Amino acid sequence: MSERDECIFCRIADGKVKSDLLHQDSEVIAFRDINPLAPLHLLIVPRKHIPSLVELEAEDSSLIGAMVNVANWLAKDAGVAEKGYRLVINCGPEGGQGVPHLHMHLLGGRQLGSKLG
Ligand code: AMP
Repeated sequence: MSERDECIFCRIADGKVKSDLLHQDSEVIAFRDINPLAPLHLLIVPRKHIPSLVELEAEDSSLIGAMVNVANWLAKDAGVAEKGYRLVINCGPEGGQGVPHLHMHLLGGRQLGSKLG
């Protein structure tokens, strides 16, 4: 089995697993988290399989900007931009990363706690 076939977010990006997809372009997709921690909880995911933030190569660093742009647009579209929202990237086991494919969480729609860790 190929790396893409073993990765749940690659399978979603490739249309092999269903998701509640809110955005897709040539580089980035975004869909609702299956286990939401806030009224709005989206995942912004590059199509390219990058296992985690620490493995982001310099040549792919513009992807982070593309992901933030998509997140900001989705926050505005969902109506949470004015009150505020949070973008989170978990990296590695101690960073709380469960799915080994780079992704950004967009959380909003309620008052989020002031503690990060
Ligand atoms: P992290 O802990 O940062 O790796 O976050 C992974 C997130 O992916 C968790 O919030 C999960 O609820 C979410 N997740 C895992 N599988 C799926 C899926 N098939 N569709 C949507 N969200 C998922």
